[in-house]
Amino acid sequence: MRPFTYTRPDQPAQAWAELGPDAMYIAGGTNLVDLMKSGVTTPGRLVDIGRLPLAEIETDGDTLRVGALVPNSDLAAHPVVRERLPVLSQALLAGASPQLRNLATIGGNLMQRTRCGYFRDTAMPCNKREPGTGCAALDGDHRGHAVLGTSPQCIATHPSDLAVALVALDALVRIDGPNGPRVLPLGAFHLPPADTPERETALVHGELITGVEVPMTAVGAHSHYLKVRERAAFAFAMCSAAVALDVHEGTVRSARIALGGVATTPWRAHTAEQALIGVPPGTAAFARAADAATEGAAPRRDNAYKVELIRRVVARALTTLAPLILDEEPA
Ligand code: SF4
Repeated sequence: MRPFTYTRPDQPAQAWAELGPDAMYIAGGTNLVDLMKSGVTTPGRLVDIGRLPLAEIETDGDTLRVGALVPNSDLAAHPVVRERLPVLSQALLAGASPQLRNLATIGGNLMQRTRCGYFRDTAMPCNKREPGTGCAALDGDHRGHAVLGTSPQCIATHPSDLAVALVALDALVRIDGPNGPRVLPLGAFHLPPADTPERETALVHGELITGVEVPMTAVGAHSHYLKVRERAAFAFAMCSAAVALDVHEGTVRSARIALGGVATTPWRAHTAEQALIGVPPGTAAFARAADAATEGAAPRRDNAYKVELIRRVVARALTTLAPLILDEEPA
């Protein structure tokens, strides 16, 4: 690991004042420290934001406000989240390991970098790590890579489970920095690779996530997260789906479907959602939605299986969720 300086401010304004051009913020450090050890990221200075007052979980009417420094495990266990936004709790518990969830923060979860093996191997070409060097995954080992939102520059998946649930729930990201606070829909926070795969979020240098806001709606209360992975724990998704349904008088009034493990960003499947509106929830409708969820998929040599996996994961997530909702419908 290269030498670096370290500072630990108490207030946000102090944090961005201390962030020089080669500095980075660190919170739980569960991702950044690994990247520093392998030489993928080489900051000259770390600004530890762990003491900033950003660790509260609050409810304000039908809005859940979560500070950026809330540990993943605390949010997953919060009673309001478990009852009113089950997909959020389930997605958090599907990520990493208990030890990592205790240390990793909500803001850091949204900022984590891809697990593409070439990105983490400094001997290999990678446009995301070193723009213009090429993408070793295009014709290399891309079995776990994305089929949605890809570009000729990069096909790496976004690794977060939390972000998939949040994008399904129409969450907002609160940001602050030298130029003042702003709020973005989570769907606009992560950037597709396009021609600049090194740019992964809408943050500009000096800005940091201060929290997320999640609307607690009827559709969010009836939600489910399904993650398919190569082992039962401590593994990234081959494909995951965050689904939510609001059913009224036997037909779907509102639907949310988001995908993880198959796209370069947390992926909202709007066409799949539309396929469910106004129809009774059931096998036929779920199959149509599952099919629509693959819209735009562009598989490569060894990851075409993910297209069929999307269909099956979406259909199974909806099929798991539906009986829980129909049980609540008045007879
Ligand atoms: Fe790098 Fe993206 Fe290619 Fe992986 S897929 S090698 S992260 S450019």
